[in-house]
Amino acid sequence: MAGEEQLRDGGLHRRRVVVLFSLPFHGHLNPTLKLAALLRARGLAVTVLHTDFNAPDPARHPGLAFVPIHETPLQDTAVSPDSDILAKLLALNAAIAAPFRQALASLQDAVACAVVDGQCYAAMDAAGELGVPVLALRTDSAAALRNMLAIPRLRDAGYLPFKEEQLDEPAPGLEPLRVRDLIRVDGCDTDELCGFVTSVADAVRASVSGIVFNTFEAIEAPELAKIQRELSLPAFAVGPLHLLSQTPPPAEQSLHAPDRGCLAWLDARTPRSVLYVSLGSLACVNRAAFEEMAWGLAGSGVPFLWVVRPGMVTGGAAGEEAPPPLPDGLEEKMRGRGKIVTWAPQREVLAHDAIGAFWTHCGWNSILESICEGVPMLVQPCFADQMVNARYVTHEWGVGMEVGEVIERERVAKAVTKLMVGEDGARMRERARRLQVQASAATSLALDSLVQYILSL
Ligand code: UDP
Repeated sequence: MAGEEQLRDGGLHRRRVVVLFSLPFHGHLNPTLKLAALLRARGLAVTVLHTDFNAPDPARHPGLAFVPIHETPLQDTAVSPDSDILAKLLALNAAIAAPFRQALASLQDAVACAVVDGQCYAAMDAAGELGVPVLALRTDSAAALRNMLAIPRLRDAGYLPFKEEQLDEPAPGLEPLRVRDLIRVDGCDTDELCGFVTSVADAVRASVSGIVFNTFEAIEAPELAKIQRELSLPAFAVGPLHLLSQTPPPAEQSLHAPDRGCLAWLDARTPRSVLYVSLGSLACVNRAAFEEMAWGLAGSGVPFLWVVRPGMVTGGAAGEEAPPPLPDGLEEKMRGRGKIVTWAPQREVLAHDAIGAFWTHCGWNSILESICEGVPMLVQPCFADQMVNARYVTHEWGVGMEVGEVIERERVAKAVTKLMVGEDGARMRERARRLQVQASAATSLALDSLVQYILSL
Protein backbone atom coordinates (compact mmCIF):
# COMPACT_ATOMS: atom_id res chain seq x y z
CA MET A 1 0.00 0.00 0.00
CA ALA A 2 1.14 3.54 -0.70
CA GLY A 3 1.31 4.49 2.98
CA GLU A 4 3.44 1.46 3.85
CA GLU A 5 5.78 2.07 0.92
CA GLN A 6 6.27 5.59 2.09
CA LEU A 7 7.27 4.26 5.50
CA ARG A 8 9.65 1.64 4.12
CA ASP A 9 11.29 4.42 2.14
CA GLY A 10 11.73 6.23 5.41
CA GLY A 11 9.33 9.11 5.95
CA LEU A 12 10.51 12.34 7.51
CA HIS A 13 9.28 10.97 10.80
CA ARG A 14 9.63 7.16 10.78
CA ARG A 15 6.64 5.59 12.53
CA ARG A 16 5.11 9.01 12.55
CA VAL A 17 2.44 8.61 9.93
CA VAL A 18 -0.70 10.62 10.48
CA VAL A 19 -3.74 9.00 8.94
CA LEU A 20 -6.59 11.27 7.89
CA PHE A 21 -10.08 10.13 7.01
CA SER A 22 -13.11 12.15 5.90
CA LEU A 23 -16.64 11.19 5.06
CA PRO A 24 -17.06 11.68 1.30
CA PHE A 25 -18.92 15.00 1.41
CA HIS A 26 -17.45 17.89 -0.55
CA GLY A 27 -17.57 20.17 2.51
CA HIS A 28 -15.71 17.60 4.66
CA LEU A 29 -13.15 16.35 2.12
CA ASN A 30 -11.80 19.76 1.19
CA PRO A 31 -10.87 20.93 4.70
CA THR A 32 -9.49 17.46 5.49
CA LEU A 33 -7.22 17.54 2.45
CA LYS A 34 -6.09 21.04 3.35
CA LEU A 35 -5.22 19.93 6.86
CA ALA A 36 -3.39 16.92 5.37
CA ALA A 37 -1.27 19.24 3.20
CA LEU A 38 -0.52 21.52 6.15
CA LEU A 39 0.61 18.59 8.33
CA ARG A 40 2.75 17.29 5.46
CA ALA A 41 4.34 20.73 5.08
CA ARG A 42 5.33 20.50 8.76
CA GLY A 43 7.28 17.30 8.18
CA LEU A 44 4.74 14.65 9.05
CA ALA A 45 4.13 11.70 6.73
CA VAL A 46 0.45 11.74 5.87
CA THR A 47 -1.74 8.96 4.55
CA VAL A 48 -5.28 9.77 3.51
CA LEU A 49 -7.70 6.88 3.79
CA HIS A 50 -10.73 7.45 1.58
CA THR A 51 -13.91 5.92 0.25
CA ASP A 52 -14.29 4.92 -3.40
CA PHE A 53 -17.33 7.18 -3.53
CA ASN A 54 -16.17 10.77 -4.23
CA ALA A 55 -12.55 9.62 -4.04
CA PRO A 56 -9.99 12.44 -4.02
CA ASP A 57 -7.68 12.81 -7.00
CA PRO A 58 -4.10 12.02 -5.77
CA ALA A 59 -2.61 14.01 -8.69
CA ARG A 60 -3.91 17.19 -7.05
CA HIS A 61 -2.19 16.43 -3.74
CA PRO A 62 1.50 15.78 -4.23
CA GLY A 63 3.27 14.54 -1.11
CA LEU A 64 0.25 12.78 0.34
CA ALA A 65 -0.27 9.02 0.20
CA PHE A 66 -3.79 7.81 -0.61
CA VAL A 67 -5.27 4.45 0.36
CA PRO A 68 -8.84 3.45 -0.60
CA ILE A 69 -10.72 1.62 2.11
CA HIS A 70 -13.27 0.13 -0.34
CA GLU A 71 -16.40 0.74 1.67
CA THR A 72 -19.22 -1.77 1.47
CA PRO A 73 -21.54 -0.91 -1.46
CA LEU A 74 -23.47 2.25 -0.64
CA GLN A 75 -27.22 2.11 -0.33
CA ASP A 76 -29.28 4.74 -2.17
CA THR A 77 -29.88 6.48 1.18
CA ALA A 78 -26.19 7.36 1.37
CA VAL A 79 -26.12 9.20 -1.94
CA SER A 80 -29.59 10.16 -3.10
CA PRO A 81 -30.27 13.92 -3.14
CA ASP A 82 -33.70 13.09 -1.73
CA SER A 83 -32.43 11.40 1.45
CA ASP A 84 -31.81 13.62 4.47
CA ILE A 85 -28.38 14.26 5.95
CA LEU A 86 -29.01 12.03 8.95
CA ALA A 87 -29.89 9.06 6.72
CA LYS A 88 -26.71 9.74 4.74
CA LEU A 89 -24.54 9.92 7.86
CA LEU A 90 -25.96 6.70 9.30
CA ALA A 91 -25.58 4.83 5.99
CA LEU A 92 -22.00 6.06 5.51
CA ASN A 93 -20.97 5.18 9.05
CA ALA A 94 -22.32 1.66 8.51
CA ALA A 95 -20.60 1.30 5.13
CA ILE A 96 -17.15 2.35 6.32
CA ALA A 97 -17.00 0.70 9.76
CA ALA A 98 -15.37 -2.65 8.92
CA PRO A 99 -13.32 -1.54 5.87
CA PHE A 100 -11.92 1.48 7.75
CA ARG A 101 -10.93 -0.71 10.69
CA GLN A 102 -9.20 -3.15 8.37
CA ALA A 103 -7.35 -0.42 6.47
CA LEU A 104 -6.20 1.27 9.68
CA ALA A 105 -5.15 -2.08 11.19
CA SER A 106 -2.96 -2.76 8.14
CA LEU A 107 -1.07 0.52 8.73
CA GLN A 108 -1.29 0.44 12.49
CA ASP A 109 2.35 -0.16 13.42
CA ALA A 110 3.40 2.99 11.64
CA VAL A 111 0.60 5.25 12.72
CA ALA A 112 1.22 8.02 15.24
CA CYS A 113 -2.33 9.25 15.17
CA ALA A 114 -5.55 9.17 13.17
CA VAL A 115 -7.40 12.41 12.48
CA VAL A 116 -10.88 11.39 11.47
CA ASP A 117 -14.14 13.04 10.52
CA GLY A 118 -15.86 14.16 13.71
CA GLN A 119 -19.22 12.92 12.38
CA CYS A 120 -17.79 9.46 11.80
CA TYR A 121 -18.27 7.59 15.05
CA ALA A 122 -17.46 4.31 13.25
CA ALA A 123 -13.93 5.56 12.46
CA MET A 124 -13.39 7.00 15.96
CA ASP A 125 -14.55 3.72 17.52
CA ALA A 126 -12.35 1.63 15.21
CA ALA A 127 -9.24 3.70 15.98
CA GLY A 128 -10.01 3.51 19.70
CA GLU A 129 -10.44 -0.25 19.57
CA LEU A 130 -7.13 -0.64 17.75
CA GLY A 131 -5.39 1.53 20.33
CA VAL A 132 -4.49 4.20 17.74
CA PRO A 133 -4.61 7.73 19.21
CA VAL A 134 -7.40 9.58 17.48
CA LEU A 135 -8.36 13.22 17.01
CA ALA A 136 -11.78 14.28 15.72
CA LEU A 137 -11.75 16.80 12.87
CA ARG A 138 -14.89 18.93 12.96
CA THR A 139 -15.63 20.58 9.65
CA ASP A 140 -18.39 22.58 11.34
CA SER A 141 -18.14 25.27 14.00
CA ALA A 142 -17.48 24.88 17.71
CA ALA A 143 -20.96 26.32 18.33
CA ALA A 144 -22.48 23.62 16.12
CA LEU A 145 -20.70 20.86 18.01
CA ARG A 146 -21.89 22.29 21.33
CA ASN A 147 -25.43 22.31 19.96
CA MET A 148 -25.12 18.77 18.65
CA LEU A 149 -23.89 17.37 21.94
CA ALA A 150 -26.75 19.13 23.75
CA ILE A 151 -29.49 17.47 21.66
CA PRO A 152 -30.29 14.60 24.08
CA ARG A 153 -30.43 17.10 26.98
CA LEU A 154 -32.75 19.39 24.99
CA ARG A 155 -34.97 16.43 24.13
CA ASP A 156 -35.19 15.43 27.81
CA ALA A 157 -36.03 19.05 28.72
CA GLY A 158 -38.97 18.96 26.28
CA TYR A 159 -37.57 21.19 23.50
CA LEU A 160 -37.49 18.37 20.94
CA PRO A 161 -39.44 17.63 18.81
CA PHE A 162 -39.83 21.38 18.24
CA LYS A 163 -43.01 23.06 19.41
CA GLU A 164 -44.27 26.13 17.59
CA GLU A 165 -44.78 28.08 20.86
CA GLN A 166 -41.16 27.54 21.97
CA LEU A 167 -39.40 28.48 18.74
CA ASP A 168 -38.47 32.01 19.85
CA GLU A 169 -37.31 31.00 23.34
CA PRO A 170 -33.57 31.11 24.02
CA ALA A 171 -32.01 27.64 23.74
CA PRO A 172 -30.86 26.96 27.32
CA GLY A 173 -27.08 26.93 27.66
CA LEU A 174 -26.59 27.69 23.95
CA GLU A 175 -27.21 31.45 23.68
CA PRO A 176 -27.33 33.30 21.26
CA LEU A 177 -29.29 30.42 19.74
CA ARG A 178 -33.06 30.36 19.98
CA VAL A 179 -34.92 27.08 19.77
CA ARG A 180 -35.61 27.80 16.08
CA ASP A 181 -31.85 28.02 15.42
CA LEU A 182 -31.04 24.59 16.79
CA ILE A 183 -29.69 21.87 14.52
CA ARG A 184 -32.64 20.51 12.60
CA VAL A 185 -33.10 17.75 10.09
CA ASP A 186 -36.64 18.05 8.76
CA GLY A 187 -38.53 14.82 8.42
CA CYS A 188 -36.16 12.80 10.58
CA ASP A 189 -37.14 11.09 13.76
CA THR A 190 -35.99 12.69 17.05
CA ASP A 191 -34.99 9.32 18.50
CA GLU A 192 -32.89 8.56 15.43
CA LEU A 193 -31.22 11.98 15.68
CA CYS A 194 -30.51 11.43 19.39
CA GLY A 195 -29.17 7.97 18.57
CA PHE A 196 -26.71 9.43 16.07
CA VAL A 197 -25.61 12.18 18.47
CA THR A 198 -25.14 9.67 21.26
CA SER A 199 -22.98 7.49 19.00
CA VAL A 200 -20.78 10.50 18.17
CA ALA A 201 -20.62 11.68 21.80
CA ASP A 202 -19.82 8.18 23.08
CA ALA A 203 -17.08 7.74 20.49
CA VAL A 204 -15.58 11.14 21.37
CA ARG A 205 -15.66 10.42 25.09
CA ALA A 206 -14.32 6.87 24.74
CA SER A 207 -11.63 7.28 22.09
CA VAL A 208 -10.74 10.85 21.21
CA SER A 209 -7.68 12.72 22.52
CA GLY A 210 -8.54 16.12 21.06
CA ILE A 211 -10.79 18.02 18.68
CA VAL A 212 -9.58 19.89 15.63
CA PHE A 213 -11.82 22.69 14.32
CA ASN A 214 -11.76 24.57 11.04
CA THR A 215 -12.51 27.81 12.84
CA PHE A 216 -10.55 30.67 14.39
CA GLU A 217 -10.41 32.32 17.79
CA ALA A 218 -11.58 35.77 16.68
CA ILE A 219 -15.04 34.45 15.80
CA GLU A 220 -15.43 31.56 18.23
CA ALA A 221 -13.22 32.08 21.30
CA PRO A 222 -16.07 31.65 23.86
CA GLU A 223 -17.48 28.57 22.12
CA LEU A 224 -14.03 26.99 21.90
CA ALA A 225 -13.41 27.59 25.60
CA LYS A 226 -16.80 26.07 26.48
CA ILE A 227 -16.34 22.97 24.37
CA GLN A 228 -12.91 22.32 25.87
CA ARG A 229 -14.45 22.56 29.33
CA GLU A 230 -17.44 20.42 28.45
CA LEU A 231 -15.42 17.64 26.87
CA SER A 232 -12.26 18.01 28.99
CA LEU A 233 -10.30 17.73 25.76
CA PRO A 234 -7.89 20.07 24.01
CA ALA A 235 -9.40 21.91 21.04
CA PHE A 236 -7.25 23.18 18.16
CA ALA A 237 -8.79 26.01 16.13
CA VAL A 238 -6.64 25.61 13.03
CA GLY A 239 -8.80 27.56 10.58
CA PRO A 240 -9.56 29.09 8.26
CA LEU A 241 -7.83 26.14 6.59
CA HIS A 242 -8.29 27.46 3.07
CA LEU A 243 -6.41 30.64 4.00
CA LEU A 244 -3.59 28.87 5.79
CA SER A 245 -3.11 26.12 3.21
CA GLN A 246 -2.59 28.61 0.37
CA THR A 247 -3.79 26.05 -2.19
CA PRO A 248 -4.62 28.11 -5.28
CA PRO A 249 -8.38 27.57 -5.83
CA PRO A 250 -8.00 26.10 -9.36
CA ALA A 251 -5.82 23.29 -7.89
CA GLU A 252 -8.44 22.37 -5.30
CA GLN A 253 -10.37 19.17 -5.08
CA SER A 254 -13.76 19.76 -6.66
CA LEU A 255 -16.52 17.22 -6.99
CA HIS A 256 -17.94 19.05 -9.99
CA ALA A 257 -16.19 20.92 -12.79
CA PRO A 258 -16.54 24.64 -12.02
CA ASP A 259 -17.81 26.88 -14.81
CA ARG A 260 -14.95 29.37 -14.96
CA GLY A 261 -16.73 31.39 -17.64
CA CYS A 262 -18.61 33.15 -14.86
CA LEU A 263 -15.37 34.92 -13.84
CA ALA A 264 -15.24 36.69 -17.23
CA TRP A 265 -18.92 37.57 -16.80
CA LEU A 266 -18.07 39.09 -13.40
CA ASP A 267 -15.16 41.04 -14.95
CA ALA A 268 -17.72 42.98 -16.96
CA ARG A 269 -19.72 44.05 -13.84
CA THR A 270 -19.15 47.05 -11.62
CA PRO A 271 -17.62 46.56 -8.14
CA ARG A 272 -19.94 45.11 -5.47
CA SER A 273 -22.89 45.02 -7.89
CA VAL A 274 -23.49 41.24 -8.10
CA LEU A 275 -25.23 38.93 -5.66
CA TYR A 276 -23.72 35.41 -5.62
CA VAL A 277 -26.28 32.70 -4.86
CA SER A 278 -25.41 29.12 -3.91
CA LEU A 279 -26.87 26.46 -1.65
CA GLY A 280 -23.65 24.41 -1.55
CA SER A 281 -23.22 20.80 -2.56
CA LEU A 282 -26.09 19.06 -0.73
CA ALA A 283 -28.97 21.39 0.18
CA CYS A 284 -32.11 21.10 -1.90
CA VAL A 285 -35.32 23.11 -2.22
CA ASN A 286 -38.71 22.12 -3.56
CA ARG A 287 -39.90 23.31 -6.94
CA ALA A 288 -42.13 26.03 -5.47
CA ALA A 289 -39.26 27.56 -3.41
CA PHE A 290 -36.93 27.32 -6.42
CA GLU A 291 -39.38 29.27 -8.56
CA GLU A 292 -39.85 31.91 -5.85
CA MET A 293 -36.06 32.28 -5.57
CA ALA A 294 -35.85 32.67 -9.36
CA TRP A 295 -38.61 35.27 -9.65
CA GLY A 296 -37.41 37.11 -6.56
CA LEU A 297 -33.90 37.38 -7.96
CA ALA A 298 -35.13 38.47 -11.38
CA GLY A 299 -37.56 40.96 -9.79
CA SER A 300 -34.92 42.55 -7.52
CA GLY A 301 -33.22 44.28 -10.43
CA VAL A 302 -29.86 43.27 -8.94
CA PRO A 303 -27.35 41.39 -11.13
CA PHE A 304 -26.82 37.87 -9.82
CA LEU A 305 -24.71 34.77 -10.35
CA TRP A 306 -26.69 31.69 -9.32
CA VAL A 307 -25.45 28.13 -8.88
CA VAL A 308 -28.27 25.84 -10.02
CA ARG A 309 -26.91 22.38 -9.35
CA PRO A 310 -28.31 19.19 -10.89
CA GLY A 311 -30.44 17.55 -8.20
CA MET A 312 -30.90 20.73 -6.14
CA VAL A 313 -34.67 20.72 -6.67
CA THR A 314 -36.31 17.82 -4.85
CA GLY A 315 -38.40 15.32 -6.72
CA GLY A 316 -36.09 14.94 -9.76
CA ALA A 317 -34.73 11.52 -10.77
CA ALA A 318 -31.83 10.25 -8.60
CA GLY A 319 -28.47 10.80 -10.27
CA GLU A 320 -29.99 13.35 -12.67
CA GLU A 321 -27.23 15.04 -14.65
CA ALA A 322 -29.15 18.04 -15.97
CA PRO A 323 -29.89 21.07 -13.78
CA PRO A 324 -33.56 21.72 -13.03
CA PRO A 325 -35.32 23.74 -15.74
CA LEU A 326 -35.80 27.46 -15.09
CA PRO A 327 -39.35 28.80 -14.90
CA ASP A 328 -40.80 29.79 -18.30
CA GLY A 329 -40.26 33.46 -19.05
CA LEU A 330 -37.45 33.94 -16.50
CA GLU A 331 -34.72 34.52 -19.09
CA GLU A 332 -36.65 37.47 -20.58
CA LYS A 333 -37.26 38.92 -17.12
CA MET A 334 -33.53 38.64 -16.21
CA ARG A 335 -32.59 40.63 -19.36
CA GLY A 336 -28.95 39.59 -19.15
CA ARG A 337 -28.67 40.60 -15.49
CA GLY A 338 -28.49 36.99 -14.28
CA LYS A 339 -25.87 34.34 -14.93
CA ILE A 340 -26.67 30.73 -14.08
CA VAL A 341 -24.04 27.99 -13.69
CA THR A 342 -24.19 24.40 -12.46
CA TRP A 343 -21.07 24.81 -10.26
CA ALA A 344 -18.98 27.92 -9.61
CA PRO A 345 -15.32 28.38 -8.66
CA GLN A 346 -16.72 29.72 -5.38
CA ARG A 347 -13.59 31.00 -3.69
CA GLU A 348 -12.58 32.96 -6.78
CA VAL A 349 -16.12 34.24 -7.18
CA LEU A 350 -16.24 35.50 -3.59
CA ALA A 351 -12.85 37.15 -4.02
CA HIS A 352 -14.02 38.99 -7.15
CA ASP A 353 -14.52 42.77 -6.87
CA ALA A 354 -17.91 42.53 -8.59
CA ILE A 355 -19.43 40.51 -5.73
CA GLY A 356 -21.50 42.59 -3.31
CA ALA A 357 -23.08 39.84 -1.20
CA PHE A 358 -23.62 36.09 -0.93
CA TRP A 359 -27.02 34.40 -0.61
CA THR A 360 -25.97 31.22 1.15
CA HIS A 361 -27.40 28.07 2.71
CA CYS A 362 -24.85 28.68 5.51
CA GLY A 363 -22.65 25.62 5.11
CA TRP A 364 -19.63 26.23 7.35
CA ASN A 365 -17.13 26.32 4.47
CA SER A 366 -19.24 28.88 2.65
CA ILE A 367 -19.48 31.03 5.79
CA LEU A 368 -15.71 30.95 6.32
CA GLU A 369 -15.04 31.67 2.65
CA SER A 370 -17.43 34.63 2.71
CA ILE A 371 -15.94 36.03 5.93
CA CYS A 372 -12.42 35.67 4.53
CA GLU A 373 -13.39 37.83 1.55
CA GLY A 374 -15.34 40.39 3.59
CA VAL A 375 -18.61 39.56 1.82
CA PRO A 376 -21.91 40.07 3.73
CA MET A 377 -24.55 37.35 3.54
CA LEU A 378 -28.21 36.68 2.98
CA VAL A 379 -28.91 33.54 4.96
CA GLN A 380 -31.20 30.68 3.98
CA PRO A 381 -30.26 27.76 6.25
CA CYS A 382 -31.71 24.45 5.10
CA PHE A 383 -30.70 21.82 7.64
CA ALA A 384 -28.35 20.66 10.41
CA ASP A 385 -25.65 23.12 11.55
CA GLN A 386 -26.70 25.66 8.90
CA MET A 387 -29.35 26.96 11.32
CA VAL A 388 -26.68 27.60 13.97
CA ASN A 389 -24.31 29.24 11.49
CA ALA A 390 -27.08 31.53 10.22
CA ARG A 391 -27.77 32.80 13.76
CA TYR A 392 -24.10 33.60 14.34
CA VAL A 393 -23.87 35.40 10.98
CA THR A 394 -26.92 37.55 11.64
CA HIS A 395 -26.91 38.08 15.42
CA GLU A 396 -23.41 37.40 16.75
CA TRP A 397 -21.18 38.81 14.02
CA GLY A 398 -23.74 41.11 12.35
CA VAL A 399 -22.53 40.32 8.84
CA GLY A 400 -25.78 39.14 7.31
CA MET A 401 -29.57 39.12 7.33
CA GLU A 402 -32.31 36.57 6.85
CA VAL A 403 -33.99 36.09 3.51
CA GLY A 404 -37.12 35.07 5.46
CA GLU A 405 -38.47 31.78 6.71
CA VAL A 406 -40.87 31.53 3.78
CA ILE A 407 -39.23 31.92 0.40
CA GLU A 408 -41.58 34.19 -1.47
CA ARG A 409 -40.65 36.32 -4.51
CA GLU A 410 -41.54 39.76 -3.14
CA ARG A 411 -39.78 39.17 0.17
CA VAL A 412 -36.78 37.80 -1.70
CA ALA A 413 -36.57 40.88 -3.93
CA LYS A 414 -36.88 43.17 -0.87
CA ALA A 415 -34.20 41.33 1.11
CA VAL A 416 -31.84 41.29 -1.87
CA THR A 417 -32.11 45.06 -2.45
CA LYS A 418 -31.84 45.82 1.28
CA LEU A 419 -28.56 43.93 1.49
CA MET A 420 -27.11 45.01 -1.84
CA VAL A 421 -27.98 48.71 -1.88
CA GLY A 422 -29.52 49.57 1.51
CA GLU A 423 -27.90 51.21 4.55
CA ASP A 424 -28.24 48.03 6.64
CA GLY A 425 -26.37 46.17 3.93
CA ALA A 426 -23.60 48.79 3.97
CA ARG A 427 -23.19 48.35 7.74
CA MET A 428 -23.01 44.58 7.36
CA ARG A 429 -20.43 44.95 4.60
CA GLU A 430 -18.34 47.14 6.88
CA ARG A 431 -18.47 44.57 9.68
CA ALA A 432 -17.69 41.79 7.20
CA ARG A 433 -14.57 43.73 6.16
CA ARG A 434 -13.49 43.93 9.79
CA LEU A 435 -13.92 40.18 10.20
CA GLN A 436 -11.96 39.67 7.00
CA VAL A 437 -9.03 41.52 8.56
CA GLN A 438 -9.25 39.31 11.66
CA ALA A 439 -9.44 36.17 9.54
CA SER A 440 -6.36 37.13 7.56
CA ALA A 441 -4.55 37.75 10.85
CA ALA A 442 -5.34 34.20 12.03
CA THR A 443 -1.96 32.55 12.47
CA SER A 444 -0.72 29.01 12.25
CA LEU A 445 0.06 28.87 16.00
CA ALA A 446 -2.81 26.45 16.63
CA LEU A 447 -1.55 24.25 13.85
CA ASP A 448 1.94 24.23 15.39
CA SER A 449 0.41 23.22 18.74
CA LEU A 450 -1.53 20.48 16.96
CA VAL A 451 1.66 19.09 15.42
CA GLN A 452 3.39 19.13 18.81
CA TYR A 453 0.41 17.39 20.34
CA ILE A 454 0.34 14.71 17.62
CA LEU A 455 4.03 14.04 18.17
CA SER A 456 3.42 13.72 21.90
CA LEU A 457 0.66 11.09 21.58
N1 UDP B 1 -18.67 25.21 -3.76
C1 UDP B 1 -18.06 25.48 -4.96
N2 UDP B 1 -18.85 25.82 -6.00
C2 UDP B 1 -20.19 25.88 -5.94
C3 UDP B 1 -20.82 25.61 -4.69
C4 UDP B 1 -20.01 25.29 -3.61
O1 UDP B 1 -16.84 25.45 -5.07
O2 UDP B 1 -20.83 26.17 -6.95
C5 UDP B 1 -17.82 24.84 -2.61
C6 UDP B 1 -17.71 25.96 -1.61
O3 UDP B 1 -16.64 26.82 -1.95
C7 UDP B 1 -17.50 25.23 -0.29
C8 UDP B 1 -18.16 23.88 -0.52
O4 UDP B 1 -18.41 23.77 -1.92
O5 UDP B 1 -16.12 25.04 -0.05
C9 UDP B 1 -19.50 23.75 0.18
O6 UDP B 1 -19.28 23.53 1.52
P1 UDP B 1 -20.26 24.09 2.61
O7 UDP B 1 -19.73 23.68 3.93
O8 UDP B 1 -20.48 25.54 2.43
O9 UDP B 1 -21.64 23.40 2.29
P2 UDP B 1 -22.07 21.89 2.01
O10 UDP B 1 -21.92 21.68 0.55
O11 UDP B 1 -21.19 20.99 2.84
O12 UDP B 1 -23.51 21.89 2.44
